[in-house]
Amino acid sequence: MSNENSNNHHPIPISKPWITVTEKQAIIDVLESGHLAQGSRTTLLEQRFAQICHTRHAIAVSSGTAALYLALMAHGIGPGDEVITTPFTFAATAHSIMHTGAWPRFVDIDPETFNLDPNQIESAIKPSTKAILLVHLYGNPCHMTEISEIANRHGLAIIEDAAQAIGAHYHGRPVGGFGTGCFSLYATKNIMAGEGGMITTNDDVIAHQCKLIRNHGMERRYYHEIVGLNFRLSDLHAAIALAQLDRLDYITSQRRSHAQYLNTYLENLILPVERANAAHAWHQYTVRCNNTSGERCYRDQVVERLGQVGIGTGVFYPVPLHKQPSLRSVLGSYNLPITEQICQEVFSLPVYPQLTHKELDRIICETNSIIGAVVK
Ligand SMILES: *Cc1c(COP(=O)(O)O)cnc(C)c1O
Repeated sequence: MSNENSNNHHPIPISKPWITVTEKQAIIDVLESGHLAQGSRTTLLEQRFAQICHTRHAIAVSSGTAALYLALMAHGIGPGDEVITTPFTFAATAHSIMHTGAWPRFVDIDPETFNLDPNQIESAIKPSTKAILLVHLYGNPCHMTEISEIANRHGLAIIEDAAQAIGAHYHGRPVGGFGTGCFSLYATKNIMAGEGGMITTNDDVIAHQCKLIRNHGMERRYYHEIVGLNFRLSDLHAAIALAQLDRLDYITSQRRSHAQYLNTYLENLILPVERANAAHAWHQYTVRCNNTSGERCYRDQVVERLGQVGIGTGVFYPVPLHKQPSLRSVLGSYNLPITEQICQEVFSLPVYPQLTHKELDRIICETNSIIGAVVK
């Protein structure tokens, strides 16, 4: 494909919210109902999430970050405690631990799934360790059998950052149901509300704590049992997410079929794998700029050239959390070689459900030709 031709094409963004007449009508209905704050739509959304995650409870909150912070607080995590987590994630994961007064303890990742390496967890456990906060990164479930076994053996809570993973399953069990699940409804996520979040749990006490903290510690109006905050979701946001949830299976299957198509035709990259027994939600389609014969390409150059021909990409994430200015100065130095290598090699290509085959072919064609030109 010549450059001249490709310049005439419309740009393909890395992600694109999918808004239909259903979302628009849902918003109008809420506006006309006169009830905009947390109400019946939020309750419905909570019921839908509990069904999807096979949990007894779901508690809607204002963001994924709020979900993480609230879940940690509800588990009683605070000053003096440590929480084992991954350095290869969005900063909200570790920042929410910091806000409780506890310390994150980073453990290196498995290069195949980009998730916490279960073999590295046990040596990081100390008497002060209270929980494992794992992340199902890009929508790919963590090694839950191994991690649950370690958590049980050491009496640690499991908190799942499932912000990118709604619809993912591990051995047939939905993510968010292995511990306390935390979801995000941010505008770019597989199911979105603009902003929003959800906590899922089977634990009645945790659910109750989350509900209390979410609304100023009130059991009854203006009687405050504990010191809470406002982390409520509005019905306007809940209505958007509800409309989206009706399409969850279709959204996930479209993403999966696009990922399989890209996997079939992309060349000279390490491609993502969907393991048997671990259904990926394909929030991101992420490749490694490296090939099986050990040749590396320059990721930043590839990303720049793809941008020039109108193919949107994302680098999730260029800097590991233990190297971020926000954490590095307080946490000291870490040696996490897999994470550091992966941060330099990954980039994501569009995989959103509305992509056409023509667009996918363009992504494949441009990527293969650029990679071919910049392999070391
Ligand atoms: C999006 C995201 C969050 C934060 O969710 P917000 O709704 O943006 O606050 C946390 N963790 C991960 C892995 C995310 O992708």
